[in-house]
Parts: sequence; C-alpha cells; structure tokens
Amino acid sequence: MTLVVQKFGGTSVADADRIRAVADHVVRTRRRGHDVVVVVSAMGRSTDDLLELAYKVAPEPPARELDMLISAGERISMALLCMAIDDLGEPSSSFTGSQAGIVTDTTHGKAKILEIRADRVEEAVAAGKIVVVAGFQGVSTDREVTTLGRGASDLTAVALAAALGADACEIYTDVAGVYTADPRVVPDARRLKSLAFEEMLEMAATGGRVLAARSVEYARNHNVNLHVRSSFTWEPGTWVKKEEEVEKAILSGVTHDTSEAKVTVVGVPDRPGIAARLFRALADESVNVDMIEQNVSVTGLADISFTFPKADLTVAMRVTEAIAADLGAARVAGDSDIARISLIGAGMKTHPGVAATMFETLAAEGLNIEMISTSPIRISCVVRAADVEKGVRALHAAFELETLQP
Ligand code: ASP
Ligand code: MG
Repeated sequence: MTLVVQKFGGTSVADADRIRAVADHVVRTRRRGHDVVVVVSAMGRSTDDLLELAYKVAPEPPARELDMLISAGERISMALLCMAIDDLGEPSSSFTGSQAGIVTDTTHGKAKILEIRADRVEEAVAAGKIVVVAGFQGVSTDREVTTLGRGASDLTAVALAAALGADACEIYTDVAGVYTADPRVVPDARRLKSLAFEEMLEMAATGGRVLAARSVEYARNHNVNLHVRSSFTWEPGTWVKKEEEVEKAILSGVTHDTSEAKVTVVGVPDRPGIAARLFRALADESVNVDMIEQNVSVTGLADISFTFPKADLTVAMRVTEAIAADLGAARVAGDSDIARISLIGAGMKTHPGVAATMFETLAAEGLNIEMISTSPIRISCVVRAADVEKGVRALHAAFELETLQP
C-alpha cells in the first residue's frame, strides 16, 4: 500500500462544488488502494478577508490573535472536506496543525517548523481513515497556535509527506503544472513532465509562481517527490525530483520577473570597504538585495548597480544617496522600469554556448542587456521592462523549448 499526500490550494476548495469535487477525487484515490493524507488551504480568498477584518477592528492586531484568526480559514475547509468525504461513504478525520503534531518555533505569522510528531495522523491512517490536515499552521514550543507564512499550506504538505515517508506529495492547484515559460506570454509554452529541485528553486526565485521556494527547499532537503497538477482537469502534471531521476534536457524554461527595481551609483572610489559600507547600510534598512554588479575600474572610480524589490525603491534611494554624498560619488540613479529574463536548466553545466546564444538572441531583438548574473544552472539578464515579453518569446523560440522538452 502506498501513502500519498494530496494538497489542495484555495482555488481548489473555493466553494461547495469544488469541495465536493475534491472529496470525490480523494475518495477515488483511496478506493484505488492508497492511504491518503490531505492538506487543505483556506477557501478562496478567505485568508485575505480575515486579515482585512482584523485591520478593521484594530490598526495593530496582536500577532497571537492574528494567528488565531487566520488559522481558522483552513479549519473551515478541513471540516467541510471531511463532511463531503463522509457523504461519499469513506471514514475520515480532520486535524488542525496542532493536532497533527506540527511543532514550530514561536514566531507568529512566519513560524518555522521544528518537528513533526505524526503519531496521531499515523494512527488514524492505520485505522483506515482518510486524514485531512489544516495547512499553514502549527503549534509553537510555547503551545500557542502559529501560522507558517502566506501560501505555506504547500509547506505543511511537504513536511507531512517527509515525516510520514509518503511515496509522493501531490500539489493540486489551478494550473496544470510547470511550464517552459508563462503561457500567457508564450502561447506554445509546454508543460514539463519533470524537472529537478534545483531548477524549480531557480524558477521560483526568478518569477515562476507555481511553487514557493520554501516548500521546494524542504522537499529537496528531505527528498520528497512533488507532483504539481490541476484540480480542475485532474490530468497528470509536472514532477519535481532529484536531478538524477529527471529526464535530461539542456534547458527547462525561461522565466521573467518585473517585480524588481535597480539603483546605480556612478563614480564611487574603487577601494576596500566601499561595497561593504553600502550593502551593510541597505541590509540595516531591510532592503533585500538580489543582483549586484560592479564594473572594473580603470580610472579609480567604479559604478555599482544592484536590484531589489520595487517596494523598497524609496528606502534604497535614500540610503544610497546618503552614502554616495559621503563618498563624493558622481550620482545615484533609481530605475523601476527594469525586468529580468532568466534561462534555467541543469544541462547548461555541461553544454557550452548557452550564454552566447542567449545574448545573440536578445541582441537580434534589439534588447540591451543592462546586467547579467549566473548560477551553475541559470543565466539572468536585466533588460527594459517594456521589452521583456518580446525577449522571453525570442528565447523560447531560439532554444526550441516548445519541442525539445522530454
Ligand atoms: N491560506 C493561506 C494563505 O492564503 C495558506 C495557503 O493558502 O497556502 O496564505
Ligand atoms: Mg493560498
């Protein structure tokens, strides 16, 4: 008998009909002979609605009470799902995160999972029940209800799958899997059959929105095979696994991200300690810096550019301008009309020429590359935001991603 963890996101359980459809799928899985542990998100937008309500009653609600409140969303869906499963004639039990033994640290709103004491879930499974667990929540070492951060029901599912030694963790959502590019931008983007954890992490970090990096990291660290698939069509989706277990392709996709802005400091003295000072000051203001580029100085003056989330532009400019004035730098320029295009693929480690083809393709489209950064399995270029979709389509075509995927 195999054990499968099935996670259903907010859109998958958004109303009574959806909950009945999910119950039907869970029961079918059970009747095919699998043990099933289900993890649910809150219905539709209900977490947002609860948060809105909280800020209407108090401008600064206490973190403990916020967690009490928003953990209720998942509690509603778990109970309703069990009712629907019961109606189909299968035994089931719902468990809150606390009851399921998800032990976290004491950071309300973004708690870290410390340990999973899965015995209660295991006993219910052994008794032949379908177990339904509320995602996104746990109990702290101080015995308080905690939540794990927005979108973290995936993490609950992955962590439970790891603790239970599940054979697979299925993440059901409103898209059919992971695509070679955003299908809204590239109409012939293909759904990948599989990709490696590292590739999925790079996608999550560069604009791919299907899975959050935190859940993928947990899955990689505990070697939990993920299957991202649709709860609307129920067709097979995309597997995320160890690199050795994935069919080889040179590239797995092109992502793009328009969420960052860029600041450039022109003409800073090229001597030890300058970058340290600038980036320490930015860190002290919680600016989360992503790409950094400094040109090689021939005149004793260097230019430094860096990117970070757009929302931090005002803070980043203020911090950088203060330091630049102090150093006598020529000027500081802020720019929020940038976008990043990234090519991702484990195969580029062993295939020379990917960067060359990428730059040639962007050049042929007339796109100027403003910054470049790489990892062993990713190449990213910063371009003008207005050109980003054109660039993504050109790269997708140049690397024949519509045909070459396994
Ligand atoms: N309901 C929570 C949220 O909206 C957790 C989740 O959906 O994964 O953030
Ligand atoms: Mg959600």
